[in-house]
Amino acid sequence: MTASKSALNPLDLFDVRSELSDDERMVQDSVARFVDEQAIPVMREAFEQHRFPHELISQVAELGLLGSSIDGYGCPGLNSISYGLICQELERGDSGLRSFVSVQSSLVMFPIYAYGSEEQKQRWLPAMAKGEAIGCFGLTESQGGSDPSNMKTHAKKDGDDWILNGSKMWITNGTIADAAVIWATTDEGVKGFIVEKDMPGFTSQEIDNKFSLRASITAALFFDDVRVPSANVLPGVTGLKGPLSCLTRARYGITWGVIGAAQACLDEVIRYTGDRVLFNRPLSHTQAIQIRLADMARRITTAQLLSLQLGRLKDRGELHPTQVSLAKWNNCRAAIDIARDARDILGGSGISAEYVPIRHMLNLESVITYEGTETVQQLIVGKELTGVNAFG
Ligand SMILES: Cc1cc2nc3c(=O)[nH]c(=O)nc-3n(C[C@H](O)[C@H](O)[C@H](O)COP(=O)(O)OP(=O)(O)OC[C@H]3O[C@@H](n4cnc5c(N)ncnc54)[C@H](O)[C@@H]3O)c2cc1C
Repeated sequence: MTASKSALNPLDLFDVRSELSDDERMVQDSVARFVDEQAIPVMREAFEQHRFPHELISQVAELGLLGSSIDGYGCPGLNSISYGLICQELERGDSGLRSFVSVQSSLVMFPIYAYGSEEQKQRWLPAMAKGEAIGCFGLTESQGGSDPSNMKTHAKKDGDDWILNGSKMWITNGTIADAAVIWATTDEGVKGFIVEKDMPGFTSQEIDNKFSLRASITAALFFDDVRVPSANVLPGVTGLKGPLSCLTRARYGITWGVIGAAQACLDEVIRYTGDRVLFNRPLSHTQAIQIRLADMARRITTAQLLSLQLGRLKDRGELHPTQVSLAKWNNCRAAIDIARDARDILGGSGISAEYVPIRHMLNLESVITYEGTETVQQLIVGKELTGVNAFG
C-alpha cells in the first residue's frame, strides 16, 4: 500500500486560514514562530518541574500579546480573531502559557480598561502590557465556583477606604500578582477592588501538587482587614455582570486556545502512527486508526468554524454570551477527547512527557473546568432555549 500526500492541511482541513486577513495571518505566524522556537522547548520542562516559566513573560510582552485587544495604553488594539489566534498558537505550546496571557489580558487588563478610572488605566495598563506588572482575577471561592452569587468575601466602607475580608481559591497568577482584581460583596452590590500585593492583610499561598496546568501558578488568596482606598475600586460597574463580562471574554479565548492543544495532539499521532509498525504494517494503514484520526480532524474542524464565526460576531459587536458558552463546551470537550484518544494511540509511549498528548490531556482537565465547567456552559445554553434557570 502506498501513501499519497494530501493537498489539504490535516490540522486545518477546511482552510480556515484562507478566511483570515493578511494582518491576522501575520499575527498567527509571529506567535507560532515564538511558540515553536522559544516556548515549546521551555514548557515541557516547566510542566515537569511544576514551575511557571517567568523567563517567557518579557518575550510575550514584546510580541504585544498582553492586552492585545485594548486600543491605547501601550496595547496594539488587535481584533478578536487575532486574539483568538494568539490563544490558539500559545495553547498549541501549553495551556499554562495561554492561561497566563488570558488572565492578564481578559480578566485583569480588560476590567481595568472597561470599568476602571483614568488614573487606574494609566497606572496599570501600560505596565501590564510590558509585563512589568502582573495581575490576577479573584472571583472563585472555596464554597463553590459555579455559584458566584454565594460570594462571602465582602468589603465595608470606612471613611474614604474599604475594609476587605474573605478569601479566594484557585487563582491563576495569585502569588506573582502585583495587582489582584478582587470581586467582593458590598452594601451597594458586588464591586471590583484592585488589591495591591503589599497591602497589609493580603496574603497568598500557592496550591502545590497539581497534576494539571503544572506550568501555571494557582493560588489561594486571603484578605484579613485589608484597607483598600476608594481610588482602587473599579468605578464603572456594580453587580455580577462585572466579573461575568470578563468571563465571557476569557471563555471566548479558550474556545480558540483548546484548538491549538488538539492540533498538537493530532499532529503527534499522525506522525507516530505513520512510523509505528505493528503486524507488519504502519498503524496508520489500519481502518480503526484512520477512523480515530478522521474523528479528531472532524472535531477540530467543527471547533475552528465555531470560533471563527464567534470572532466575527464579536468583531461586529453582535456576540451573545450563550454562543460563547456553547463554543467553550463544544471545543473543550473536543480537545480533551482528542488528547485522551491520542494518549491511547501512543500506547505506553503515551504516558511519557516526550510526547505531547498526556501534558495537554492533563492541562485540559483544568481548562474544561475553569471559567465555568462543562455543566455550567450546558445550563447556560439550556436556559437560553427554555427561558428557565435550572442552576438552582
Ligand atoms: C487551574 C485552575 C485555575 C483557575 N483560575 C481561576 C482564576 O484565575 N480566577 C478565578 O476566579 N477562578 C479560577 N479558577 C476556578 C474555576 O473557575 C472553578 O474551579 C470553576 O468555576 C468550578 O468551581 P469549583 O471548582 O468550585 O467547582 P463546583 O462549583 O463546586 O462544581 C463541582 C461540580 O458540580 C457541577 N455543578 C455545578 N453546578 C451544577 C448544577 N446546577 N447542576 C449540576 N451540576 C452542577 C460542576 O459542573 C462540577 O462538576 C481556576 C480553577 C483551576 C482548576
